[in-house]
Amino acid sequence: MTNLPSLSEWWMDNKMLTKKRVVDLRSLLPRHPTRKWKKRKKISWLIVHMTASNNQDPYKTNEYHISPGNHISKKGCPRITYHDYITDDGTIYHCNNYFDWIWHCGWINRWSAGITMAFRGQTKDNSGNYITPPAAQWRSLIQHLVRLCLYLNLSPNRIKGHREVRGFWKLLGRGSKKYKTSCPGFGIDLDELRTQVCKRLQIKLASENLYKGKIDGKFFILSKAALKLYHQNLLVALTRK
Ligand SMILES: [Zn+2]
Repeated sequence: MTNLPSLSEWWMDNKMLTKKRVVDLRSLLPRHPTRKWKKRKKISWLIVHMTASNNQDPYKTNEYHISPGNHISKKGCPRITYHDYITDDGTIYHCNNYFDWIWHCGWINRWSAGITMAFRGQTKDNSGNYITPPAAQWRSLIQHLVRLCLYLNLSPNRIKGHREVRGFWKLLGRGSKKYKTSCPGFGIDLDELRTQVCKRLQIKLASENLYKGKIDGKFFILSKAALKLYHQNLLVALTRK
């Protein structure tokens, strides 16, 4: 994977992926004056977060993360601690290279990409239910996860909400769990998110004549084989350029 061109280049080339605006902030967001991310090679998980703030500006979130004394690091982080940042209008900001080993979710950082929605999922509505993201933001999240699954050859079951990651919950009796964080918001049904991503992946793979099974949101052997083939073709196409 180290030899792959950047995902941003791939976005520009792939018609399916240009429907939603992706803004590349990697060379624009200020960095911590001295600290740098370590690099890693393998990404096995996609972790979904919320910012839990009203702020819709990746620059402001970045400013907070690189400043000393924030909740993540006393000295300040090298940069914003998400790879991608999705605002409520559905715009996707690409903030760090996927090879950057950023600090978004404890032990799984080394093996995962962190995607956040600028969203206050800890909020309840008037009926006492946790809120859900605006439609544009939710659609962008799904589309983006589809992209990343294609690019990285990851099954949708490799998508986890922050709260689902081991270490961020503990088992109570009778199979129920106590979560240490609500991230990305209890209003978000993460199984539904995986199903939606899976269906769109199946549609995409079927449109490329790689998948002949049902569009059922279940990622089993036929879907996996089709994704693997898509990814192999992608590698060939990208390295040929
Ligand atoms: Zn989180």
